[in-house]
Amino acid sequence: LIQLYLPLNFLGFVYREMKQGLVDMEAMFSLMRESREIADKPGAPPLPSGRGAVRFDGVRFGYNANREILHGLDFEVPPGRMLAIVGPTGAGKSTISRLMFRFYDVSGGRITIDGADLRDVTQESVRAAIGVVPQDTVLFNDTIFYNIAYGRPEATEAEVVEAAKLAQVHDFVLRLPEGYKTRVGERGLKLSGGEKQRVAIARTILKNPRILILDEATSALDTRTEQEIQSALRGVSRGRTTLIIAHRLSTVVEADEIIVLAEGRIAERGTHAELVAAEGLYAAMWRRQAQAVALAEAAAAARDVL
Ligand code: ADP
Repeated sequence: LIQLYLPLNFLGFVYREMKQGLVDMEAMFSLMRESREIADKPGAPPLPSGRGAVRFDGVRFGYNANREILHGLDFEVPPGRMLAIVGPTGAGKSTISRLMFRFYDVSGGRITIDGADLRDVTQESVRAAIGVVPQDTVLFNDTIFYNIAYGRPEATEAEVVEAAKLAQVHDFVLRLPEGYKTRVGERGLKLSGGEKQRVAIARTILKNPRILILDEATSALDTRTEQEIQSALRGVSRGRTTLIIAHRLSTVVEADEIIVLAEGRIAERGTHAELVAAEGLYAAMWRRQAQAVALAEAAAAARDVL
């Protein structure tokens, strides 16, 4: 059975990698298109300094004038707190993160960071204030040092190493043939998904943004990789305002507030305990996920026995 299963699984892997390559390119082109749509007001100042208070006040938005996607969202993330956004595909979760970056302007209401309406400050300063750890990180064909330092090119070697330690990728780097000078990327050493993600986390730690946006992977990672990433993420989000598009039970349980988005509206909100007690959409979602996790663990245990 194992002999049959492995090649099939490998083909699935190759297919997913190819598909992801196309998705990355698409994402890049759409980012390039999107960033041209927004222009700064003449003489707009940069974002004032602050600790990263995020506020959505009656935010309405549609990609086209004839189809509204977000129908008036109100929420607040106080400095240093964590908000988890959950909900079915198409609910508008990624749209929220695109609006935070001001790839688009809202069509109603307003978004503020540290009291400043995003439309009144420079787009560049907004982007500098926000760090993202994407689901998939593209590494440059360069050294691992360069790939981490990219978060802040003027960083010293000691700062890069410190960020790598926080992201829990330092020990891994030391085991590479040439340490931080090892070339990675498509033409260098290929890193696993989990290793790439920890490089991305180290990059974000170096950038030191006041706000962090995380888009959790939907695909199943093996338990060990997931634990390593989770604990590295905890390091970067500590004391930093964090918005997570969450797919994992372990993340949402720790969030200060969870909003359940459905069809562009907040259907439920509260802490994990409150939402479980409410026995609504959220409770049903996580019951299903808990069952899936239990099944996956049972399957993994069975594989170990084989
Ligand atoms: P989620 O992240 O919750 O899966 P999204 O924010 O990606 O949802 O999408 C919300 C809705 O907006 C969906 O109906 C989607 O089809 C639509 N949408 C997303 N991106 C675009 C776009 N660039 N142009 C037009 N519609 C879009």
